[in-house]
Amino acid sequence: MKRILVTGGAGFIGSHLCEKLLNEGNEVISLDNYFTGSKSNIVHLMDNPFFEVIRHDVTMPFFIEVDEIYNLACPASPIHYQYNPIKTVKTSVMGAINMLGLAKRIKAKILQASTSEVYGDPQIHPQKEDYWGHVNPIGTRACYDEGKRVAETLFMNYHQQNNVKIKIARIFNTYGPRMHPNDGRVVSNFIVQTLNQKDITIYGDGQQTRSFQYIDDLLAGLINLMETGDDFIGPVNIGNPTEFTILELAEKVIAMTGSKSNIIYKPLPEDDPLQRKPDISLAKKELNWEPHVELDEGLGKTINYFDKLLSKS
Ligand code: NAD
Ligand code: UDP
Repeated sequence: MKRILVTGGAGFIGSHLCEKLLNEGNEVISLDNYFTGSKSNIVHLMDNPFFEVIRHDVTMPFFIEVDEIYNLACPASPIHYQYNPIKTVKTSVMGAINMLGLAKRIKAKILQASTSEVYGDPQIHPQKEDYWGHVNPIGTRACYDEGKRVAETLFMNYHQQNNVKIKIARIFNTYGPRMHPNDGRVVSNFIVQTLNQKDITIYGDGQQTRSFQYIDDLLAGLINLMETGDDFIGPVNIGNPTEFTILELAEKVIAMTGSKSNIIYKPLPEDDPLQRKPDISLAKKELNWEPHVELDEGLGKTINYFDKLLSKS
């Protein structure tokens, strides 16, 4: 049995990861400050004696004895990470320093939840790990993108200077149950809008693309990455390479919910990437991993989740 710390354990991805790691027979500690996460995401795990919940902010040092650390703490949706941009940078940078310092001291393996946003508005398509990216350092997305880029730098530096065992996952757009209904991300927005028979808001002309990965596929990729040998550190893309325009996504959600919602168009936010699709050859080779859940199947499960959630409220 391993003892595993998950920072951001009460968030969308973190709560699913805690659940899966517990189901696989590990002892799991969730560390979270509940900025965007919530206890309701993990309440069903709390009667498990091998699960512990700690309220803590990763910008402050933290000490514990564990074998592995998944560092997920960071708001991920644009409206949340832009709410307090200075705090977002601190969470990525101070959070990485604190967790890497901990990993160094206790000789734990540590995985960083990095992001496709390190590629910014990419000029190379699809994106491979050796692409350095195209990020505006002073734009509205910079607090998130640059914070995550510095976190990657810190991970590499702690590895090279202090022999810390690191893994870096570049996660592409992920969706599924337990996304926050008001966090403004496109999948949750479109589903909540259609279920409420409200207009669907497309930003820009809807021709920008994203490649959507279902949560279960991501979890398998993250755990496979953590289990690779010490010589593989990444960064490695973890995402679903099937690319859709945002208009196609809107039409799919309308069809699947049978909603009468109309599509309306709003201005495209500053620095919104025009295209995004992972090249996953490295993950296939090194993690023996590829995604299996197609958009229709994953959307169906996510629509069911939001349907139940909205009928309760
Ligand atoms: P989320 O907002 O649901 O989860 C983030 C969690 O971190 C929340 O529980 C929040 O309360 C916690 N948190 C935030 N700041 C903290 C702090 N200072 N101290 C302690 N806890 C803090 O987002 P998510 O979608 O679950 O994302 C999890 C991680 O995965 C993030 O690091 C994000 O950057 C990364 N990621 C997510 C996606 C995606 O599509 N969901 C894509 C790329 C990368
Ligand atoms: N988007 C949209 N309508 C919405 C929410 C988002 O058209 O109600 C667009 C957004 O402008 C972006 C894409 O959908 O082009 C994905 O947005 P999201 O915030 O989910 O993720 P990210 O931009 O971080 O990839």
